[in-house]
Amino acid sequence: MTARNKDSLRSKLSRLLDQVEKPARYTGGELFSDLSSNTADELLDVALVYPDIYDIGGSNQALVILYDICLRTAGVHVERAYLPWIDMIALMRHNDLPLCTLENTRPLASFDLIGITLPHELAATNILELIDLAGIALSGSERGEDDPLIIGGGPTAFNPEPFADVFDALCIGDGEELFAEVLGVLLQLKQAGRSRAEKLEALAALEGVSICAFRPDAPCELPPQRVRKRVLSDFAHYPAVTRPIVPFIETAQDRLCVEILRGCARGCRFCAAGMLYRPVRERSAQAVVRAVTDGLAATGLNEASLISLSSTDHSQIAPIIRRLNRRYDTTDIKISLPSQRLDAFGSTMAQVACGTQRKGSLTFAPEAGSQRLRNVINKNIDTDDIIQAITTACAAGWRHYKLYFMVGLPTETDTDIIQIVELANLVYDTAVSAVPPGERGQIRVALSCAVFVPKAHTPFQWCGQLGLAEVQRRLRLLRHSGLHKSIKLQWQDPEISQIEAVISRGDRTIGPLIRRAWELGARFDAWSEQFSMTAWRTAAADLGLSLDELAGREYALDATLPWDFVDSGLDKGFLAEEYQRSLTGQVTNDCTRGACVSCGVCAQLDTNVSLAASRSDTSISTGGSSTQIGLDLKPVDCVERATCV
Ligand code: SF4
Repeated sequence: MTARNKDSLRSKLSRLLDQVEKPARYTGGELFSDLSSNTADELLDVALVYPDIYDIGGSNQALVILYDICLRTAGVHVERAYLPWIDMIALMRHNDLPLCTLENTRPLASFDLIGITLPHELAATNILELIDLAGIALSGSERGEDDPLIIGGGPTAFNPEPFADVFDALCIGDGEELFAEVLGVLLQLKQAGRSRAEKLEALAALEGVSICAFRPDAPCELPPQRVRKRVLSDFAHYPAVTRPIVPFIETAQDRLCVEILRGCARGCRFCAAGMLYRPVRERSAQAVVRAVTDGLAATGLNEASLISLSSTDHSQIAPIIRRLNRRYDTTDIKISLPSQRLDAFGSTMAQVACGTQRKGSLTFAPEAGSQRLRNVINKNIDTDDIIQAITTACAAGWRHYKLYFMVGLPTETDTDIIQIVELANLVYDTAVSAVPPGERGQIRVALSCAVFVPKAHTPFQWCGQLGLAEVQRRLRLLRHSGLHKSIKLQWQDPEISQIEAVISRGDRTIGPLIRRAWELGARFDAWSEQFSMTAWRTAAADLGLSLDELAGREYALDATLPWDFVDSGLDKGFLAEEYQRSLTGQVTNDCTRGACVSCGVCAQLDTNVSLAASRSDTSISTGGSSTQIGLDLKPVDCVERATCV
């Protein structure tokens, strides 16, 4: 692309900025973004793209890590792009302007490789929107020699089938080593002048890469070769990113994020991330403290978040917090733990962590109201743990609480629903009685309910989702079961959850459904005000499909599943046994505190649990619940996982 064309595009896009909300989404130029131009033909041109707006993707940890890898790889030039908001999309389409990168206003179509992270299923139509806005063919089979290769990765890629037509390749598992290998292969083949087909052949030879075109079209038919998940075994010594791009506007993670551990061994049976990112690997306290201090000094940010799926599980979390507290005691810098556990919070963490955190709202996720159902999902904290945590948090100054539950979990009955209300009321009463009389009016409790979505590679992968009518009935029951009038109740739109369920366990028939829904106007499906069930229903009808049947599909334990060709390391027999144990309420222990439970990952993937110290000294023996410092950012489904690389 010539300099004149680039300037022309930039000036045309600039002229649109005074007509859109938040122009800073489109200007780039942030601290630590690489504004250099690619002036050498032999360099590999990479565009990293997030399939949602800058406000959500600007701090996405997967993009932060992948961008850093590109900057450190000789011969690679990297830029970024995000999906514009609907106002900007409309103007760009009206003016016939393609989606461009932030760094140098280059059309995505001019790059060698487009890397798109798949953070969740509801980004599916956004991916089509951004590829189309870039002027690139939506189907991999329609792309030619001059088109970029489009490669995806992230947690949703573990079931590649719904995305098989769109992506040329999908990367499965931790991205650090795998993405570097992908870059190396493509750089070499570009310099050798090799064809698109030869590049795909070479990528197919890398462990962890699924080449969509090489998969058979028939749904549920196993391919000749399984694709094995990649694991970054030496996570402990892999350098944390301490010079991330610092956005100009507020984003989902408006702070320095340091990933302190990867994986979770609690074994919650509904949780895909907990299953998919095993085994648990920790950075040392020294490495964490150094990353925080270096990162804060480099970026000038005044908050650092110690992120992971369950940060209070880190074997050295108390000394880490104490050291950071000492260092930043006399400054306005805050250290936060966005993912905590209820039981751990109730003991040591309330004392060491609360002093450093904003007294915003503290979010606990018991997930189920009854002990029986918490055992079914292997989240078997008891009521005493919850009451203890609330009492301790109140004593430490917290006044606002959010409680997360799920409706429609396997084996759920009306009694379980009513017990959600009873537990929420108990939390409210406990909090009110735990604070001085003059402060009781400050207590706020919000109850948030999501609809259970069965996910691939979990013990509940064989279960169907409840139909919409039954979900609505249970939500009505929840609303009319005596919830304290001071407790604010909200729930996730069940129709959005149904679409998530359709895609999460979908086969190749789902790709055309996504495409048809997008043609009918579906996009930003995770944003409730943008979501269009009409588009999805019409698309399903056009293709002779039923959304209720797709979301509610149950599989026999011995059935071949559409995602079986992806080897997550988890033994399918382990998942089946976990499912059967769930039906009788048997809990399974955490292998970082007890014996290996033979999930299969370590032996299968030649890796191991890697802790910075023993976890046996922490007071967690019965499982528990994760907690999050609440961020009132939309969409609610876009909570970042530290391991979405
Ligand atoms: S194989 Fe054993 S030690 Fe390794 S993650 Fe699974 S349960 Fe834990």
